[in-house]
Amino acid sequence: MIIKFWGVRGSIPTPGKDTVVFGGNTTCIEILSAGQERIIFDAGTGIRVLGLELMNTEFGQGKGKAHIFFTHSHWDHIQGFPFFAPAYVGRKDMQGKRISECSNEFNLYGAADVGDRLETTLRGQMDNYYFPVDLNYLSSNINFKTLKDYRVTLGDTTITAFKLVHPNGVLGYRIDDGKSSVAIATDCEHPSDGTIDPNLLQLAQNVDALIYDGQYTPEEYAPHRFNLPGPGKQGFGHSTAEEGIRAAKAAGAKRLIITHHEPIHNDEFLAKMEKDARKLYAATDFAREGMMVEL
Ligand SMILES: [Zn+2]
Ligand SMILES: [Zn+2]
Repeated sequence: MIIKFWGVRGSIPTPGKDTVVFGGNTTCIEILSAGQERIIFDAGTGIRVLGLELMNTEFGQGKGKAHIFFTHSHWDHIQGFPFFAPAYVGRKDMQGKRISECSNEFNLYGAADVGDRLETTLRGQMDNYYFPVDLNYLSSNINFKTLKDYRVTLGDTTITAFKLVHPNGVLGYRIDDGKSSVAIATDCEHPSDGTIDPNLLQLAQNVDALIYDGQYTPEEYAPHRFNLPGPGKQGFGHSTAEEGIRAAKAAGAKRLIITHHEPIHNDEFLAKMEKDARKLYAATDFAREGMMVEL
């Protein structure tokens, strides 16, 4: 499988000269499975750039098909969707019926208890108070699907969802394409009692790569432990690279990729965080926008 990172920033886009190395777009990860299924995780602002790239392929002619899985519907994971150009590509006949041969097809997945509001939320952010174009104007074939049994099979690829800890809930996803496996665990907070979330351990068991939310430094997360003034970020629903390393080691993940970078962390700071993390676990990378990983 090929993994491409289109957005690795947490919370809010951070354009500017201090973020050009790691990137400023919010969460969007694309996976092309061994069986050539195109699977996208989250529609942060990174999906806009992915969309532009896809327009040079069959998606430009309305002949593309992709699956978009949402971890949850916080802003930074949905805000790019109205700017995803391939979603606009399609045609209807005189009766208003969509012509499938020239309409892109997108299956959008969210869990019942995390994302039954997925459709409502995506429609809501395109309400005319916020956006000039209604979701119904998108001419592609968009199907909202609920992850009822937390598992979807697409050809040889299985996508399994696990609930993780985040305000209002979040899903982690494990993708097995028959040749390799990856776990995506963004927007998740580690338990405060020193244990590791059993769902995370299951999600990441022996994966080739674990993609993990390492938004904060331990000092930012819990300043009181370092005799620093607060308030800390505990309870905000995010974790640290150090906790990601503990989980990766315990689950037997072969490599760790840290994502959902904190908006105030500039390139220099993130490079230092990456260097420090590698001292604890050499197989650690901090995700950069545009980074491609082949497993
Ligand atoms: Zn987020
Ligand atoms: Zn979130």
